[in-house]
Amino acid sequence: MDNCLFCRIVARSMPAEIVYENNQTLAFLDIKPVNPGHVLVIPKNHYADFVSTPSSVLEEIVAVAQKLAPVILAATGSPAFNIGVNNGKEAGQVVSHMHLHVMPRHADDGHEMWHGREYTPGEMARVAGEIRGQL
Ligand code: AMP
Ligand code: ZN
Repeated sequence: MDNCLFCRIVARSMPAEIVYENNQTLAFLDIKPVNPGHVLVIPKNHYADFVSTPSSVLEEIVAVAQKLAPVILAATGSPAFNIGVNNGKEAGQVVSHMHLHVMPRHADDGHEMWHGREYTPGEMARVAGEIRGQL
């Protein structure tokens, strides 16, 4: 995919701070990190998002994240990390090439998590039923 930013990074036609690669995946620093050491793990093949990525490729991406996360913590002196995938533009996905964020975290680093809301009475059971009904 010539017009895909992350495919260009895979092809080395776009510069990136690559920290790890194997047959199926590439890991590089996010240019606008939550904290320094924020890494994106991507498949070398182009898949637009999480749901369209084969599960065997997702397994490899998760295995790489599990390998890199403690290394990133050690390298950056971070005590903790978040893992995240934004699937779809309404969920904040900007780059349409599957990527998993590994984000080192510090106490009071200013990064905001999502704000939960309470269910209204009966809503939780109804929604669970709707999800089960779609399976
Ligand atoms: P998302 O919002 O989940 O699609 O995340 C896209 C991420 O890609 C953002 O965190 C960007 O900072 C990051 N990003 C965009 N362009 C580049 C690039 N050329 N090199 C590294 N990271 C990038
Ligand atoms: Zn791509």
